[in-house]
Amino acid sequence: MKYLEEFQNPDLAGGLLADIRATVTRPWALMEVCGGQTHTIIRHGIDQLLPPEVELIHGPGCPVCVTPLEMIDRALEIAARPEVIFCSFGDMLRVPGSSRDLFRVRGEGGDVRVIYSPLDALRIAEDNPHREVVFFGIGFETTAPPNAMAVYQARKRGIRNFSMLVSHVRVPPAVEAIMNSPQCRVQGFLAAGHVCSVMGTDEYPALAERHRVPIVVTGFEPLDILEGIRRAVRQLERGEHTVDNAYGRAVRPEGNPAARAMLQDVFEVTDRAWRGIGVIPDSGWRLSPRYRDHDAEHRFDVARITTREPAQCRSGEVLQGLLKPHQCEAFGTTCNPRTPLGATMVSSEGACAAYYLYRRLGTPDASREASPVG
Ligand code: SF4
Repeated sequence: MKYLEEFQNPDLAGGLLADIRATVTRPWALMEVCGGQTHTIIRHGIDQLLPPEVELIHGPGCPVCVTPLEMIDRALEIAARPEVIFCSFGDMLRVPGSSRDLFRVRGEGGDVRVIYSPLDALRIAEDNPHREVVFFGIGFETTAPPNAMAVYQARKRGIRNFSMLVSHVRVPPAVEAIMNSPQCRVQGFLAAGHVCSVMGTDEYPALAERHRVPIVVTGFEPLDILEGIRRAVRQLERGEHTVDNAYGRAVRPEGNPAARAMLQDVFEVTDRAWRGIGVIPDSGWRLSPRYRDHDAEHRFDVARITTREPAQCRSGEVLQGLLKPHQCEAFGTTCNPRTPLGATMVSSEGACAAYYLYRRLGTPDASREASPVG
Protein backbone atom coordinates (compact mmCIF):
# COMPACT_ATOMS: atom_id res chain seq x y z
CA MET A 1 0.00 0.00 0.00
CA LYS A 2 1.54 3.29 -1.11
CA TYR A 3 2.82 5.51 1.71
CA LEU A 4 2.61 2.64 4.20
CA GLU A 5 4.51 -0.39 2.93
CA GLU A 6 7.12 1.75 1.21
CA PHE A 7 7.93 3.26 4.62
CA GLN A 8 8.34 -0.20 6.17
CA ASN A 9 10.95 -1.51 3.73
CA PRO A 10 13.39 -3.76 5.67
CA ASP A 11 16.33 -3.10 3.31
CA LEU A 12 15.98 0.65 3.65
CA ALA A 13 15.57 0.25 7.42
CA GLY A 14 18.82 -1.73 7.50
CA GLY A 15 20.58 1.09 5.63
CA LEU A 16 19.34 3.71 8.10
CA LEU A 17 20.36 1.55 11.04
CA ALA A 18 23.82 1.05 9.56
CA ASP A 19 24.16 4.81 9.17
CA ILE A 20 23.12 5.39 12.80
CA ARG A 21 25.59 2.74 13.99
CA ALA A 22 28.38 4.31 11.95
CA THR A 23 27.61 7.78 13.29
CA VAL A 24 27.11 7.22 17.01
CA THR A 25 30.16 7.37 19.28
CA ARG A 26 28.62 7.93 22.74
CA PRO A 27 25.30 7.61 24.60
CA TRP A 28 22.37 9.79 23.60
CA ALA A 29 18.81 9.90 24.93
CA LEU A 30 16.06 10.94 22.51
CA MET A 31 12.40 11.49 23.31
CA GLU A 32 9.67 10.70 20.81
CA VAL A 33 6.84 13.03 21.74
CA CYS A 34 3.89 11.27 20.14
CA GLY A 35 2.13 8.13 21.38
CA GLY A 36 1.66 6.99 17.78
CA GLN A 37 5.43 7.05 17.35
CA THR A 38 5.82 5.11 20.61
CA HIS A 39 3.54 2.37 19.28
CA THR A 40 5.50 2.17 16.01
CA ILE A 41 8.76 1.91 17.96
CA ILE A 42 7.54 -0.84 20.29
CA ARG A 43 5.54 -2.73 17.67
CA HIS A 44 8.48 -2.94 15.26
CA GLY A 45 11.15 -3.33 17.92
CA ILE A 46 12.98 -0.23 16.70
CA ASP A 47 14.41 0.48 20.16
CA GLN A 48 15.88 -3.03 20.21
CA LEU A 49 17.44 -2.62 16.76
CA LEU A 50 19.28 0.58 17.64
CA PRO A 51 22.88 0.56 18.83
CA PRO A 52 23.05 0.48 22.63
CA GLU A 53 24.26 4.07 22.76
CA VAL A 54 20.87 5.36 21.53
CA GLU A 55 18.07 5.29 24.10
CA LEU A 56 14.49 6.19 23.23
CA ILE A 57 12.44 7.81 25.98
CA HIS A 58 8.67 7.86 25.55
CA GLY A 59 7.06 11.28 25.92
CA PRO A 60 3.65 12.65 26.92
CA GLY A 61 2.15 12.46 23.44
CA CYS A 62 -0.94 10.36 24.01
CA PRO A 63 -3.96 12.67 24.07
CA VAL A 64 -6.17 10.34 26.07
CA CYS A 65 -3.42 9.68 28.62
CA VAL A 66 -2.71 13.31 29.45
CA THR A 67 -6.36 14.30 29.93
CA PRO A 68 -6.45 15.03 33.68
CA LEU A 69 -8.47 12.92 36.06
CA GLU A 70 -10.56 15.88 37.13
CA MET A 71 -11.63 16.42 33.53
CA ILE A 72 -12.73 12.78 33.32
CA ASP A 73 -14.73 13.29 36.53
CA ARG A 74 -16.34 16.40 35.06
CA ALA A 75 -17.27 14.41 31.94
CA LEU A 76 -18.76 11.66 34.11
CA GLU A 77 -20.90 14.12 36.05
CA ILE A 78 -22.22 15.75 32.89
CA ALA A 79 -22.81 12.41 31.13
CA ALA A 80 -24.93 11.13 34.04
CA ARG A 81 -27.49 13.93 33.72
CA PRO A 82 -30.79 12.77 32.23
CA GLU A 83 -31.11 15.72 29.86
CA VAL A 84 -27.66 15.14 28.33
CA ILE A 85 -26.50 13.17 25.30
CA PHE A 86 -22.77 12.84 25.88
CA CYS A 87 -20.68 12.30 22.74
CA SER A 88 -17.09 11.11 22.72
CA PHE A 89 -14.54 9.27 20.66
CA GLY A 90 -14.49 5.64 21.71
CA ASP A 91 -11.12 5.53 23.43
CA MET A 92 -12.31 7.87 26.21
CA LEU A 93 -15.05 5.50 27.39
CA ARG A 94 -12.76 3.16 29.32
CA VAL A 95 -10.50 5.81 30.83
CA PRO A 96 -10.96 5.47 34.59
CA GLY A 97 -12.23 8.43 36.56
CA SER A 98 -12.11 8.55 40.35
CA SER A 99 -14.80 5.91 40.78
CA ARG A 100 -16.10 4.81 37.36
CA ASP A 101 -15.77 5.37 33.62
CA LEU A 102 -18.09 6.48 30.81
CA PHE A 103 -18.98 2.86 30.03
CA ARG A 104 -20.27 2.50 33.58
CA VAL A 105 -22.29 5.70 33.24
CA ARG A 106 -23.83 4.29 30.07
CA GLY A 107 -24.58 1.00 31.86
CA GLU A 108 -26.33 2.97 34.56
CA GLY A 109 -28.62 4.63 32.04
CA GLY A 110 -26.61 7.61 30.82
CA ASP A 111 -26.95 8.48 27.13
CA VAL A 112 -23.28 8.16 26.14
CA ARG A 113 -22.62 7.85 22.41
CA VAL A 114 -19.45 7.05 20.48
CA ILE A 115 -18.96 9.30 17.47
CA TYR A 116 -16.33 9.49 14.76
CA SER A 117 -16.36 13.22 14.04
CA PRO A 118 -17.30 16.24 16.16
CA LEU A 119 -19.69 17.19 13.37
CA ASP A 120 -21.64 13.99 14.22
CA ALA A 121 -22.37 15.60 17.60
CA LEU A 122 -23.70 18.69 15.87
CA ARG A 123 -26.06 16.53 13.82
CA ILE A 124 -27.24 14.77 16.97
CA ALA A 125 -27.89 18.18 18.54
CA GLU A 126 -29.98 19.23 15.54
CA ASP A 127 -31.92 15.96 15.68
CA ASN A 128 -32.59 16.31 19.43
CA PRO A 129 -33.46 19.96 20.03
CA HIS A 130 -34.87 19.25 23.51
CA ARG A 131 -31.73 17.54 24.78
CA GLU A 132 -28.33 18.98 25.72
CA VAL A 133 -25.62 17.51 23.49
CA VAL A 134 -22.09 17.67 24.91
CA PHE A 135 -18.97 16.70 22.99
CA PHE A 136 -15.80 15.75 24.86
CA GLY A 137 -13.09 17.69 23.00
CA ILE A 138 -9.67 16.39 23.95
CA GLY A 139 -6.30 16.07 22.30
CA PHE A 140 -3.41 17.97 20.81
CA GLU A 141 -3.11 20.46 17.95
CA THR A 142 -4.17 17.65 15.61
CA THR A 143 -7.74 17.15 16.87
CA ALA A 144 -8.27 20.76 17.91
CA PRO A 145 -9.06 22.19 14.42
CA PRO A 146 -12.05 19.91 13.64
CA ASN A 147 -13.32 20.39 17.18
CA ALA A 148 -12.98 24.15 16.77
CA MET A 149 -14.90 23.84 13.51
CA ALA A 150 -17.78 22.12 15.31
CA VAL A 151 -18.09 24.97 17.81
CA TYR A 152 -17.77 27.53 15.04
CA GLN A 153 -20.55 25.83 13.10
CA ALA A 154 -22.76 25.56 16.18
CA ARG A 155 -22.52 29.32 16.77
CA LYS A 156 -22.97 30.15 13.11
CA ARG A 157 -26.02 27.90 12.73
CA GLY A 158 -27.54 28.83 16.08
CA ILE A 159 -27.39 25.28 17.50
CA ARG A 160 -27.73 26.37 21.11
CA ASN A 161 -28.09 22.89 22.66
CA PHE A 162 -24.54 21.95 21.61
CA SER A 163 -21.58 22.48 23.91
CA MET A 164 -18.07 21.13 24.24
CA LEU A 165 -16.12 20.02 27.30
CA VAL A 166 -12.68 21.24 26.30
CA SER A 167 -9.44 19.63 27.40
CA HIS A 168 -7.07 20.51 24.57
CA VAL A 169 -3.33 20.58 25.08
CA ARG A 170 -0.36 22.02 23.20
CA VAL A 171 2.95 20.24 22.59
CA PRO A 172 5.61 23.01 22.75
CA PRO A 173 4.87 24.03 26.39
CA ALA A 174 5.09 20.34 27.37
CA VAL A 175 8.50 20.07 25.70
CA GLU A 176 9.54 23.17 27.62
CA ALA A 177 8.29 21.66 30.90
CA ILE A 178 10.16 18.41 30.26
CA MET A 179 13.38 20.25 29.54
CA ASN A 180 12.98 22.39 32.68
CA SER A 181 12.60 19.32 34.91
CA PRO A 182 15.70 18.70 37.06
CA GLN A 183 15.32 14.95 36.31
CA CYS A 184 15.33 15.46 32.55
CA ARG A 185 17.76 13.24 30.60
CA VAL A 186 16.46 14.10 27.14
CA GLN A 187 19.10 15.37 24.71
CA GLY A 188 17.05 15.51 21.53
CA PHE A 189 13.43 15.35 20.38
CA LEU A 190 11.52 13.62 17.63
CA ALA A 191 8.67 16.12 17.25
CA ALA A 192 5.23 14.85 16.26
CA GLY A 193 4.82 15.25 12.51
CA HIS A 194 1.03 15.52 12.51
CA VAL A 195 1.09 18.34 15.08
CA CYS A 196 3.56 20.21 12.90
CA SER A 197 1.43 19.60 9.80
CA VAL A 198 -1.17 21.81 11.52
CA MET A 199 0.95 24.26 13.49
CA GLY A 200 4.10 24.41 11.38
CA THR A 201 7.53 24.57 12.97
CA ASP A 202 7.89 28.20 14.05
CA GLU A 203 7.47 27.46 17.77
CA TYR A 204 10.46 25.10 17.85
CA PRO A 205 13.63 27.07 16.93
CA ALA A 206 13.50 29.09 20.17
CA LEU A 207 13.04 25.86 22.16
CA ALA A 208 15.95 24.17 20.39
CA GLU A 209 18.15 27.19 20.97
CA ARG A 210 17.15 27.74 24.61
CA HIS A 211 17.75 24.13 25.63
CA ARG A 212 20.44 23.36 23.04
CA VAL A 213 18.61 20.26 21.80
CA PRO A 214 18.04 19.09 18.23
CA ILE A 215 14.36 18.84 17.33
CA VAL A 216 13.61 16.67 14.32
CA VAL A 217 10.07 16.73 12.96
CA THR A 218 9.32 13.05 12.44
CA GLY A 219 6.60 10.91 10.90
CA PHE A 220 5.05 7.67 12.09
CA GLU A 221 6.14 4.77 9.91
CA PRO A 222 9.28 2.75 10.81
CA LEU A 223 11.46 4.45 8.20
CA ASP A 224 10.20 7.86 9.34
CA ILE A 225 11.23 7.07 12.90
CA LEU A 226 14.64 5.74 11.88
CA GLU A 227 15.28 8.77 9.69
CA GLY A 228 14.29 11.08 12.58
CA ILE A 229 16.69 9.24 14.89
CA ARG A 230 19.45 9.30 12.28
CA ARG A 231 19.16 13.06 11.85
CA ALA A 232 18.97 13.71 15.61
CA VAL A 233 22.03 11.54 16.32
CA ARG A 234 23.96 13.24 13.53
CA GLN A 235 23.23 16.66 15.05
CA LEU A 236 24.15 15.50 18.55
CA GLU A 237 27.45 14.04 17.38
CA ARG A 238 28.27 17.32 15.63
CA GLY A 239 27.23 19.45 18.62
CA GLU A 240 24.35 21.01 16.68
CA HIS A 241 20.85 21.88 17.92
CA THR A 242 18.59 22.98 15.10
CA VAL A 243 15.04 22.23 13.97
CA ASP A 244 15.07 19.76 11.09
CA ASN A 245 12.00 18.68 9.13
CA ALA A 246 12.27 14.97 8.31
CA TYR A 247 8.55 14.74 7.45
CA GLY A 248 8.55 16.99 4.44
CA ARG A 249 5.82 15.04 2.67
CA ALA A 250 3.31 16.37 5.24
CA VAL A 251 4.84 19.34 7.05
CA ARG A 252 5.39 22.86 5.75
CA PRO A 253 7.06 25.50 7.94
CA GLU A 254 3.86 27.51 8.12
CA GLY A 255 1.67 24.48 8.86
CA ASN A 256 -1.95 24.69 7.76
CA PRO A 257 -2.95 28.37 7.75
CA ALA A 258 -6.71 27.68 7.55
CA ALA A 259 -6.57 25.35 10.55
CA ARG A 260 -4.46 27.81 12.52
CA ALA A 261 -6.90 30.62 11.77
CA MET A 262 -9.80 28.47 12.99
CA LEU A 263 -7.92 27.67 16.21
CA GLN A 264 -7.13 31.32 16.79
CA ASP A 265 -10.76 32.30 16.32
CA VAL A 266 -12.36 29.67 18.56
CA PHE A 267 -9.76 29.05 21.29
CA GLU A 268 -7.51 31.02 23.57
CA VAL A 269 -4.38 29.76 25.30
CA THR A 270 -4.73 28.79 28.95
CA ASP A 271 -2.84 26.93 31.67
CA ARG A 272 -3.80 23.26 31.59
CA ALA A 273 -3.33 20.33 33.96
CA TRP A 274 -1.75 17.19 32.44
CA ARG A 275 -2.64 13.88 34.01
CA GLY A 276 0.08 12.74 36.39
CA ILE A 277 2.22 15.77 35.61
CA GLY A 278 0.33 18.78 36.91
CA VAL A 279 -0.38 22.23 35.56
CA ILE A 280 1.85 23.39 32.70
CA PRO A 281 1.59 27.13 31.96
CA ASP A 282 0.03 28.05 28.60
CA SER A 283 -0.17 24.39 27.63
CA GLY A 284 -3.84 24.23 26.72
CA TRP A 285 -6.72 25.83 24.92
CA ARG A 286 -10.15 26.84 26.15
CA LEU A 287 -13.01 28.42 24.25
CA SER A 288 -12.53 32.14 23.73
CA PRO A 289 -15.15 34.49 25.28
CA ARG A 290 -17.01 34.74 21.96
CA TYR A 291 -17.82 31.02 22.16
CA ARG A 292 -18.36 30.81 25.93
CA ASP A 293 -22.05 29.94 25.43
CA HIS A 294 -20.89 26.61 24.01
CA ASP A 295 -18.54 25.82 26.90
CA ALA A 296 -19.89 22.79 28.80
CA GLU A 297 -17.71 23.54 31.81
CA HIS A 298 -19.65 26.75 32.38
CA ARG A 299 -23.01 25.48 31.21
CA PHE A 300 -22.99 22.61 33.71
CA ASP A 301 -20.93 24.31 36.42
CA VAL A 302 -18.40 21.49 36.72
CA ALA A 303 -15.22 23.58 36.98
CA ARG A 304 -15.57 23.20 40.77
CA ILE A 305 -14.72 19.45 40.49
CA THR A 306 -11.09 18.83 41.38
CA THR A 307 -9.50 15.43 41.97
CA ARG A 308 -6.30 13.93 43.34
CA GLU A 309 -4.49 11.42 41.18
CA PRO A 310 -4.38 7.86 42.63
CA ALA A 311 -0.97 7.00 44.10
CA GLN A 312 -0.78 3.45 42.71
CA CYS A 313 -0.63 4.57 39.07
CA ARG A 314 2.76 5.89 37.98
CA SER A 315 1.64 7.13 34.58
CA GLY A 316 2.89 10.62 35.40
CA GLU A 317 6.43 9.24 35.51
CA VAL A 318 5.78 7.22 32.35
CA LEU A 319 4.49 10.32 30.55
CA GLN A 320 7.57 12.32 31.55
CA GLY A 321 9.92 9.58 30.38
CA LEU A 322 11.16 8.91 33.91
CA LEU A 323 9.85 5.33 34.01
CA LYS A 324 9.34 2.64 31.38
CA PRO A 325 5.90 0.98 31.65
CA HIS A 326 7.22 -2.46 32.58
CA GLN A 327 9.06 -0.88 35.52
CA CYS A 328 5.74 -0.02 37.18
CA GLU A 329 4.92 -2.63 39.85
CA ALA A 330 1.31 -2.88 38.68
CA PHE A 331 2.17 -3.48 34.99
CA GLY A 332 0.52 -6.64 33.68
CA THR A 333 -0.71 -7.68 37.13
CA THR A 334 -3.19 -5.42 38.88
CA CYS A 335 -3.07 -3.11 35.85
CA ASN A 336 -3.90 -4.51 32.43
CA PRO A 337 -6.22 -3.46 29.59
CA ARG A 338 -9.22 -5.20 31.21
CA THR A 339 -8.68 -3.58 34.60
CA PRO A 340 -6.62 -0.46 33.86
CA LEU A 341 -5.41 1.71 36.71
CA GLY A 342 -4.38 4.53 34.40
CA ALA A 343 -5.15 5.98 31.00
CA THR A 344 -1.75 4.96 29.60
CA MET A 345 -2.97 1.33 29.80
CA VAL A 346 -6.28 2.13 28.08
CA SER A 347 -5.50 4.35 25.17
CA SER A 348 -4.52 2.96 21.78
CA GLU A 349 -1.62 5.44 21.93
CA GLY A 350 -0.66 4.80 25.56
CA ALA A 351 2.87 3.61 26.33
CA CYS A 352 1.68 1.07 28.92
CA ALA A 353 -0.76 -0.36 26.38
CA ALA A 354 2.04 -0.62 23.78
CA TYR A 355 4.28 -2.54 26.17
CA TYR A 356 1.38 -4.78 27.21
CA LEU A 357 0.41 -5.47 23.61
CA TYR A 358 3.87 -6.12 22.19
CA ARG A 359 6.23 -6.80 25.09
CA ARG A 360 4.52 -8.40 28.07
CA LEU A 361 5.61 -11.94 27.17
CA GLY A 362 9.25 -10.96 26.86
CA THR A 363 11.71 -8.98 28.87
CA PRO A 364 11.50 -5.53 27.33
CA ASP A 365 15.14 -4.56 27.60
CA ALA A 366 16.59 -8.05 27.51
CA SER A 367 17.52 -8.22 23.88
CA ARG A 368 18.83 -5.90 21.25
CA GLU A 369 18.87 -8.64 18.69
CA ALA A 370 17.48 -7.52 15.38
CA SER A 371 13.85 -8.26 14.68
CA PRO A 372 12.43 -7.46 11.28
CA VAL A 373 10.98 -4.04 10.65
CA GLY A 374 7.92 -4.23 8.52
S1 SF4 B 1 1.14 0.05 34.22
FE1 SF4 B 1 -0.89 0.80 34.87
S2 SF4 B 1 -0.59 1.55 36.97
FE2 SF4 B 1 1.44 1.40 36.01
S3 SF4 B 1 1.80 3.44 35.12
FE3 SF4 B 1 0.87 2.18 33.48
S4 SF4 B 1 -1.33 2.63 33.64
FE4 SF4 B 1 -0.42 3.34 35.59
